[in-house]
Amino acid sequence: MQFQTSNQYTRYDQKVHIYSQALLNNLKAVRSLCKPETKLCAVIKANGYGHGIREIVNILKTGQVDFFAVANVYEAAFIADLLGEIKILILEPIHTAYTSDAVKLCAQKGFHCAIVSNQALQFVQDCLKDTTDVLNVHIKVETGMGRCGIDAKKAAQLVKKIRTLSNLRLAGVYTHFSTAAEKNLTYAVHQLENFKKFLSSQSLLACKDVIIHAANSAAMLNIPEAHFDMVRCGIALYGWVEHPDLLKINLQPAMKFEVPIVQINHFKKGQPIGYGRTFSAWRDTVGAIVPIGYADNYWRLYSNSAFMKVGDKFAQVIGRVSMDKTILDVTDLPDAEVGQFVTVIDNDIQSQCSVYRQAEMADTICHEILASLPARALRIVH
Ligand SMILES: *Cc1c(COP(=O)(O)O)cnc(C)c1O
Repeated sequence: MQFQTSNQYTRYDQKVHIYSQALLNNLKAVRSLCKPETKLCAVIKANGYGHGIREIVNILKTGQVDFFAVANVYEAAFIADLLGEIKILILEPIHTAYTSDAVKLCAQKGFHCAIVSNQALQFVQDCLKDTTDVLNVHIKVETGMGRCGIDAKKAAQLVKKIRTLSNLRLAGVYTHFSTAAEKNLTYAVHQLENFKKFLSSQSLLACKDVIIHAANSAAMLNIPEAHFDMVRCGIALYGWVEHPDLLKINLQPAMKFEVPIVQINHFKKGQPIGYGRTFSAWRDTVGAIVPIGYADNYWRLYSNSAFMKVGDKFAQVIGRVSMDKTILDVTDLPDAEVGQFVTVIDNDIQSQCSVYRQAEMADTICHEILASLPARALRIVH
């Protein structure tokens, strides 16, 4: 079954550089915090955290990755042919709105699928009953995240039921933390205790063929006791975490995003610049126009505040960010010229246009900044 359509073009003027060695170093750094036998699941949902899912898979599969986790069956199908022996875990629980073809595809391709309801179990069994395929399922247990897990009592019933269904195999049990990146880990530890209680009630820790997993990047860094059989690492692999002070290991940002200056414009003192006249030149001003705007998820709230790097200096956005254009103040940067590429997102943690800085400015987390990278920008793998 194919879900793919090709309705995307490439913007050759917007360059997302992907640094293979940084990704592989981050993978090693993450692994160095885990026991050698702990499996590593690289989370690559949301187009590989915006970087480009196929590029990320092709790089990480040359390192020590046991699973790739995606959000949904579409992403799984999109990368399945790249993987060889490496398994795919689909994080969105299977539900009855899946087509039976999608369920069959999951079983045929050996995808591991989350499951959170009895109804879904029965649905999967019905879809597969005329085949000899067996679907690997992971029960997602609610321990305090309050999203899509199933509570412990019902999870126990699922464990039992799966064992009676010929086309299903219990391959994993997991949970997810809601506060593992916070300084105060009391609630995360409370979740961990709930999870451990469930595991021991079902004697799951003794089951060698059931993978127990709980930790995202933050829990991987902060709560070693939460590693179990596998860690599910996303943001740290790309070189970022929620707060730089979480960093216990040396991570390298794996991406830089650049666009060219397409016009240099000279504005006389007093001239209003951009929509809404939110900026007036307070001196004779040289503006550099770059072809990126809120249509590329370069948010409008960066108007008059964010910076881009021009050469090795920083230039501030002046006026409103518009749909496809942004203007930088390069009055003090006489070398700025048309055709020169400027850095929109830097691969330097200290930079004024680092992912941390942009996340802070947009009142969000690194995940959202990365996931917002424009899909149509050219990817260049180094
Ligand atoms: C996205 C996600 C992760 C990875 O989180 P990071 O903070 O990026 O490491 C792990 N587990 C689940 C269930 C997720 O949805």
